[in-house]
Amino acid sequence: MSATATYAFMGKTILITGGAGEIGRATAHRFAANGAAVVLLDINETKLAEVAQGLKDYGNPVYTFCCDVTQSEAVAQAFARVIEQVGHLDYVFNNAGYQGAFATTDEYPEEDFQKVIDINVVGVFHILKAAARHLRATGGGAIVNMASHAGVDGPPNMLAYAASKFAVIGMTQTAAKDLAPHGIRVNALSPSLIGPGMMWTRQTELQAGVGSQYFDSSPKVVEQQMIDSVPLRRLGRLEEVASGVAFLMSDEASYITGFNLDITGGQ
Ligand code: NAD
Repeated sequence: MSATATYAFMGKTILITGGAGEIGRATAHRFAANGAAVVLLDINETKLAEVAQGLKDYGNPVYTFCCDVTQSEAVAQAFARVIEQVGHLDYVFNNAGYQGAFATTDEYPEEDFQKVIDINVVGVFHILKAAARHLRATGGGAIVNMASHAGVDGPPNMLAYAASKFAVIGMTQTAAKDLAPHGIRVNALSPSLIGPGMMWTRQTELQAGVGSQYFDSSPKVVEQQMIDSVPLRRLGRLEEVASGVAFLMSDEASYITGFNLDITGGQ
């Protein structure tokens, strides 16, 4: 157990996609520490089990479901199993994602572009649709879609990722309008530089490897260049991402929908 109490989620249930990943795990801890039952969905079964094990001491129910969000039939089946085993969901954190390749636009690999769009756009759509149907049928709730600061200001060498996260913010705005009449709030969260962690290490190494005018060829120097580009001059912590999710799901945000919480600014 590590997360501290912030908002009251006692008796509530959250489904987190990408629940085996770093942000998924930090958010699961935050909600479990605040009394919620947690449903983790991911394609990585081994890591799902590890994250679930780490949540046991909070004493709230934890469920895991292995599912590839890019497959609409698999998502529909997973939601059917969730509803059968867990019952009612209150919150859905649509968070599974992939950072993609790092390359200039003229060199960007087509296969990888498709993979990024499949996971970050089509996958987010499948979960958004399934969540909307469930929450509409059960009287409402809240959805947070994971975007990125790359969906506000396209970074160099990340063509597919920027396209996918701009799309997530667009889907959030439309879904918020479509679902408001059904008591469903839909917001997006856009972290910038979060770390330490796999995504942070990966992006500094791969940006250094591209050899563009924007970043040095040494990952250590790239780290500093990126940190110098954000107003707070430090990385955001995983717990600070979880705080954004908790706020947007909470009753404190009861009049907030269609909003993109762009949490750190900069590169
Ligand atoms: P992560 O790689 O630790 O977690 C991503 C998770 O998504 C993994 O567990 C992975 O198995 C899962 N996943 C990937 N493809 C899937 C699929 N087809 N079906 C089901 N699950 C799938 O990365 P993270 O840092 O925890 O990122 C989570 C989200 O936050 C992503 O959408 C990412 O784009 C976004 N984000 C991360 C950062 C950052 O710096 N870490 C910054 C901004 C936005």
